[in-house]
Amino acid sequence: MRDAEFFRRWLEAAAAAVEREADRLTELDSPIGDADHGANLLRGFTAVRAALAGADPATAPGALLQLAGRTLISTVGGASGPLYGTLLRRTGKELGDAPEVEDTALHQALEAGVGAVSQLGGAAPGDKTMLDALVPGVAALGTSYAAAGAAAEAGALATVPIVARKGRASYLGERSVGHQDPGATSSALLLAALADTAEG
Ligand code: ADP
Ligand code: MG
Ligand code: MG
Repeated sequence: MRDAEFFRRWLEAAAAAVEREADRLTELDSPIGDADHGANLLRGFTAVRAALAGADPATAPGALLQLAGRTLISTVGGASGPLYGTLLRRTGKELGDAPEVEDTALHQALEAGVGAVSQLGGAAPGDKTMLDALVPGVAALGTSYAAAGAAAEAGALATVPIVARKGRASYLGERSVGHQDPGATSSALLLAALADTAEG
């Protein structure tokens, strides 16, 4: 069973990973975007840290994820803010108000969260977006947290040869080939943080 402390540690690990990798995420967003992905997420996750620190210690897992999601939506200007915000809000909503969550329930909730991201952005795997990491990563939760982290990382690397069909990178058409998608890269960080929190 995973309690609220587990979700706080996951979000904290995600914030630390974003802080560590912000420059690289922004560099990846330079050739196929507007060079702000790392800065966007750094602003968002810094605000998430503050929101979590201010939240009642008794806040349940689902409410913590919804708070983090709302915070990302209100602080990140780019496309990634509403998309990651929707991922966390929808996942948190699925968890309801239970004080502890089974791994299978978390897996199902994340599947719903990823579905909401796909619905909001109209993208699917193969479009060179965060979904190229999120979809295989969350699917691999059926195996293990470590498998999810590895599948998300593989999905992010596999965006390199893809022609972008969604987001800013799609404006480049064929010229988006040869570059790793920044959002898929940050999604791999979020799932690696989950794996580290669950198994570390
Ligand atoms: P912006 O493009 O507004 O500057 P960011 O740079 O923060 O926003 O985020 C860009 C990332 O958002 C892309 O690398 C991609 O992974 C993701 N993204 C953009 N549009 C979509 C979409 N429609 N569906 C899913 N992910 C998307
Ligand atoms: Mg950008
Ligand atoms: Mg931008």
